[in-house]
Amino acid sequence: MDEKYDVVVVGGGVIGLCSAYYLKHLGASVAVLDKGDYSDGASWVNAGLLVPSHLEPIAAPGVVAQGLKWLADPESPFYIKPRIDMELTRWLWGFQAACTKKNVERAIPVLRDLALASLELHDDLSKLPGFEKIGLTCGGLLMLHNSPKSEKANLALADVAETAGLSIQRLSQSETHDIDPEIRTPMNGSVLFREDCSFDPEQFMRAMVRQLQADGVHLFSQTEVTDFDIESDRVSAMNTTKGDVAADHVVLSAGSWTGPLGRKLKIRLPIQPATGYSITIENPSSQLRIPLIVTDEHVTITPMAGRLRFGGTLTLVGFDETVDERRTLPLRRQVMLYCPEFNTDDTPLPATQSGFRPCTTDGLPAIGMANNWKNVVVATGHSMLGMTQGPITGQIVADLITGSQPRVDISSLNPNRF
Ligand SMILES: Cc1cc2nc3c(=O)[nH]c(=O)nc-3n(C[C@H](O)[C@H](O)[C@H](O)COP(=O)(O)OP(=O)(O)OC[C@H]3O[C@@H](n4cnc5c(N)ncnc54)[C@H](O)[C@@H]3O)c2cc1C
Repeated sequence: MDEKYDVVVVGGGVIGLCSAYYLKHLGASVAVLDKGDYSDGASWVNAGLLVPSHLEPIAAPGVVAQGLKWLADPESPFYIKPRIDMELTRWLWGFQAACTKKNVERAIPVLRDLALASLELHDDLSKLPGFEKIGLTCGGLLMLHNSPKSEKANLALADVAETAGLSIQRLSQSETHDIDPEIRTPMNGSVLFREDCSFDPEQFMRAMVRQLQADGVHLFSQTEVTDFDIESDRVSAMNTTKGDVAADHVVLSAGSWTGPLGRKLKIRLPIQPATGYSITIENPSSQLRIPLIVTDEHVTITPMAGRLRFGGTLTLVGFDETVDERRTLPLRRQVMLYCPEFNTDDTPLPATQSGFRPCTTDGLPAIGMANNWKNVVVATGHSMLGMTQGPITGQIVADLITGSQPRVDISSLNPNRF
């Protein structure tokens, strides 16, 4: 290829595409290199929830104890494949050390500010021509409970959200049904998180690719970055499966793959791919008005135009794309409630899709300049919130490269903190 750009973005998931968008709008020449066709990452298969309500990082007190209990249950939403893997061992060590009240208290305002700022940008993007099909809907999200345990968890999160200044409503069973009479999941109440939104992530990704092409961003699919050329304290070029691409600045935004890629540059990023599953029903026989989280089953249900998507599970099995059918049972139970046509043997369920959430040890993303290089920005580790935080991350990346002050405080997102 032998071309040179102001900025080369490595990885074309939501983070890479949003970074390219804001960089281009600040006048840079930008190329995005993706080892697939932008659809291989987590950004296509996720639940499409844009959620300020998700205020607590996955590294929180009690998570390790709960995780250990779940390990013995083949249907549980959480699983770690036992294996000898030094990166996983180091990650688990760092993760359990971060499961503290202090980590949660530090993360809450950061996650809130990122989400709220990003929602403003999502709103702007959704108004661009060509973004009509993403179906951005901001009518809130219901977290349903049907047991004392899930009720306690939902109400505790409601308290945290209220203290953080979010608008919530604690609802009885009948008040929940008033909001959406189509809810079929057994429940005795819910919490409504009013600021939450949702969209169709696949349509968003398609619209972003079209937008970047129209804006003159150079998009290289099937182009895997395998190594880097170095000149003193700068990365001068990416070595790819299609030749070298030179750059003044580099953005490392390869999702879960940023860990191994960063190691080639001696950037230590403790990131594990945390596998999640989703099942999408096209033209479902019933449709919801509002997205749901079924807290007892750890399943999300998102209505999208002409589709209903069921998502869940978090397994640490490395980069293994094999679907563990037992762990899809909670998702399938919910599918059967809303789409009983799949209860017959004649109508097989659509294939389960999987994606790797890039999870850091403390549950916060890593966004900032890499210490050991003058021209490398890291933007990854968004865990369960990459769709929510995509646009604000892209804007922060553009600010960092052009020397502007990001609009949110990013001190706790420093990629050199690990
Ligand atoms: C089941 C599920 C449900 C989820 N639900 C939600 C939700 O409701 N709301 C929310 O906010 N988030 C959700 N998430 C999380 C969200 O999807 C991720 O945080 C986000 O997609 C991560 O984006 P990314 O751009 O960092 O990585 P990815 O989307 O994984 O993209 C990384 C890209 O880098 C490319 N790449 C990798 N290595 C190389 C290389 N060497 N050279 C070139 N390219 C490379 C890959 O091909 C890929 O396209 C969910 C995730 C899953 C799995």
